[in-house]
Amino acid sequence: DCALDDAVKLKDLNAFIKLTPELALHQAKESALRYHEKQQKGPLDGVTVAVKDNFCTKGITTTCASKMLQDFVPPYNATVYERLVNAGAVLIGKTNMDQFAMGSGTVDSIFGPTKNVWSKSLENNDWCIAGGSSGGSAIAVASGICYAGIGSDTGGSTRNPAAYCGVVGLKPTYGLVSRHGLIPLVNSMDVPGIFARSTSDCVDILNAIAGPDRLDSTTISKPYHPIALPEPEQIDLSKIRIGIPKEYHCTGLSPEVLETWAKIADILEDGGAMVKQVSLPHTPSSIYVYSILNQCEVASNMARYDGIEYGHRADDDRSTEDLYAKTRAEGFNSVVKNRILSGNYFLLRENYNKYFEKALRVRRLIANDFQNVFENVNADENVDILLTPTTLTDAPLYKDFISLSNRDQCAVQDYCTQPANMAGIPALSLPIRLSQQGLPIGLQLMANVLNEQLLLTVTRWIE
Ligand code: GLN
Repeated sequence: DCALDDAVKLKDLNAFIKLTPELALHQAKESALRYHEKQQKGPLDGVTVAVKDNFCTKGITTTCASKMLQDFVPPYNATVYERLVNAGAVLIGKTNMDQFAMGSGTVDSIFGPTKNVWSKSLENNDWCIAGGSSGGSAIAVASGICYAGIGSDTGGSTRNPAAYCGVVGLKPTYGLVSRHGLIPLVNSMDVPGIFARSTSDCVDILNAIAGPDRLDSTTISKPYHPIALPEPEQIDLSKIRIGIPKEYHCTGLSPEVLETWAKIADILEDGGAMVKQVSLPHTPSSIYVYSILNQCEVASNMARYDGIEYGHRADDDRSTEDLYAKTRAEGFNSVVKNRILSGNYFLLRENYNKYFEKALRVRRLIANDFQNVFENVNADENVDILLTPTTLTDAPLYKDFISLSNRDQCAVQDYCTQPANMAGIPALSLPIRLSQQGLPIGLQLMANVLNEQLLLTVTRWIE
């Protein structure tokens, strides 16, 4: 009840597209009843969660913050949501996002932008963005409305808002968590993400949702071993090697972020870890490769929205062709339309090798860079964890952010985050506040594929 009251008071933040109070009460009663009758305790009994509005929820609208899906009510549940509910969690609402998860601000939603709870004022465009595209879930957790949030992460959409809102944001290994029922953006990079206020809350959620799913053939078939976090005082950093990739010292990095990054590296070294500089030489190319691959997959994924089977249908009966065209013209915003056009251009027969194929090759080089630092044949060269900033600055003001085009926004916002999606490795944003003043800053930790246990253990030590 309390969480829902708060949600109503905090409605100015615009974190939710839909609140689900009746469902929340029903789910809470169900888990209480289950306990009463069968003495069966769910690992998340009564834990309030908010789910990004691109995860299908049976009987509850799933809009992707777009006109195209404004009235879409899925007939099935995303696996992530189903597993949360089976573990006893309670859905308090579906959260705001950039349309079809294309963006990094949660400013491009037909329901209006989400405002950052850390803003000095929520008036007169003087407020900060929440980051995106999963800004609604990040704010739902940061403002104390609920314990955990679910987002998606294709190029940084969980870690970016986690950094700006001062919460933990985890992008697990690609394939560790099912994408079934997550409306796709870039199938080869999309991963469900987790927002929580602490590493241990994040682990509880991950343990409930991870593992193979026969409804998603890209899930890793190996059984999932739940993560057990050691107590902070039992964590021994003496065998841990931390890499600081020099390519992340890039233009636009603010002095505060640089200071925070250096400070945490020093703290890890003082704690016994070996900290050394490493190189991921293809990092600067990553943003271009991401942009090409993203737009090509978008061009293909968005083809399903034609006004025939589901979603928005324009009022046009001149011809099927006209109906498609009008439906798509009305249903998509300009960001989506631009990506469809560019993607189709890159995929033209005469351009295919020049763009798409080349981008795939460079993607391999980017993934190899990570492999070289985690699994080098010369074992002395290896590191276990990479430490970088999550974003170049703290949360920008809305008015400054929207003065840039979506492409320029992403080029800055995704710089540090999207390489991890190229390689499918796990990455986490940890909130750091060196002083009580100012906005939160996020540092990113990355580990080798399926090394969530180590990633979360080191994070817990820092926390
Ligand atoms: N900003 C990136 C984009 O717009 C990342 C989005 C995401 O991770 N969903 O594509």
